[in-house]
Amino acid sequence: MNRFLAPLSKITEWEPPIPRQHLYAILMLAGFSVASVTLLPSPTELLANNPISVNSEDLSADAALADIPAADTEYVTVPDHELLGNEANLVDGLDDDTAPEPQWLDYQVKGDDNLSVIFNTLNLPAKTLHKLLEVDIQNSLIRLKINQKLSFLIDQNNVLQQLAIPLDGDRRVLFARQGDTYVSKIDGNVQQSSDDDSSDTVSKPVQVASTATPAKAVNAAEKETTKKPVAKPSRVIKGKIAGAFVVSARNSGLSNNQIHRIANMFRGRIDFRRDLHKGDGFRVLFDKPHNDDAKILAVTFTISGRDISAYRNADGQFYDESASNFSGGGTFMRYPIPSQRRVSSGFSPNRRNPVTGRVQPHNGTDFSVRVGTPVLATGDGVIVKATSHRDMGRYVVIRHGGKYTTVYMHMSKLLVKPGQKIKQGQKIGLSGNTGRSTGPHLHYEFRINNRPVNAMRVDLPMNEGMGGKAKRQFLAKVREYKRLMNQAG
Ligand SMILES: [Zn+2]
Repeated sequence: MNRFLAPLSKITEWEPPIPRQHLYAILMLAGFSVASVTLLPSPTELLANNPISVNSEDLSADAALADIPAADTEYVTVPDHELLGNEANLVDGLDDDTAPEPQWLDYQVKGDDNLSVIFNTLNLPAKTLHKLLEVDIQNSLIRLKINQKLSFLIDQNNVLQQLAIPLDGDRRVLFARQGDTYVSKIDGNVQQSSDDDSSDTVSKPVQVASTATPAKAVNAAEKETTKKPVAKPSRVIKGKIAGAFVVSARNSGLSNNQIHRIANMFRGRIDFRRDLHKGDGFRVLFDKPHNDDAKILAVTFTISGRDISAYRNADGQFYDESASNFSGGGTFMRYPIPSQRRVSSGFSPNRRNPVTGRVQPHNGTDFSVRVGTPVLATGDGVIVKATSHRDMGRYVVIRHGGKYTTVYMHMSKLLVKPGQKIKQGQKIGLSGNTGRSTGPHLHYEFRINNRPVNAMRVDLPMNEGMGGKAKRQFLAKVREYKRLMNQAG
């Protein structure tokens, strides 16, 4: 009998194993996921410091209108392979064996944020947030502070692998995926930069494992973090373009992974399908003689006699010879249209089609503008698509530097061609009502690592100029790298 009673008495004594406030948050969030997420005001419970001021200038229209069926919008969900077609890969001939590595994505907490809005902005499911809250023993998620920087590691299947939240001092809370759930722990802040090429962090254990003896491996790993990037025996790989870039690159000794990295580095500057011709060449400088675990220090493409180079700086990012950021993607304008900013339908992963009742994510922001309004490129880049589609109408896809892509749909007239390089603010077409659209409007998407995110709320990359001492040190490194590459003949 006792055997049966014991559990019962336990139940009567049962108390929520988590703080009451926390429990409320979970319950509220559970409610959110049923209703529309963006319509609700920020629950103050979700922010510890809450001098919340709503930045109405660019956000309220978006949030308030997100789920009202607008007269001028579209209810289509175009699969990615239709959007980019054969341009989906940066270069021809690199297949699935080089699946992109997960990338860190930063988000700075804004004044009018709450957790649902943040997850919505980054296109992460509410379910993921619930799972994190369940293991948030430090309450770090419900005590977010304005301007706090959250770092998300998201894989190509849109699954959150890690989330890092800085605490006071050097510590941080790290949530890591384990099976179908998450575990959280506090650790010392391993200085982690989202813009550094992620393979450095991701592949480190592999490097260690592949080295001969454990003792040596640890040594090598330690050295790597302390010594100057110019390691003594460096290595230069040289290649000439003959046919497809991938073939030439493989023939020169570059691995698929390295080809991927280089293509990513130069996206927005070189169109690998169209710019490279027979006789053009490339040089890649590595910090080690062995290919497997070597770090790329510099890359130069010589195209029609002209050099385009990228050099690794101490921060792990690549810059050109004038010290402007190569992998950062440059700067972006928030809006793709000159003045009117009427958002008729906002970004919404949970948008419901008013006719079918089905959830149909809205991957972009719709601007209600009259036909013929100039559509502007929001950043420098290369046009990869400028064509027509039955749902998207006349549309343009621009590949920018770093991990960014922008998409513009339903235009009446296109003013650019695939392969064309364009500047921020340049007119790429005129808005319209083509494709499956219910009224004149521009549908605009902002994508990071090809995942659509909320263009109106996401942190846009900033062009941090390198100054003073840092620049002098970088330029000295550039000279050294150039010397090493030229030495190779
Ligand atoms: Zn739209």
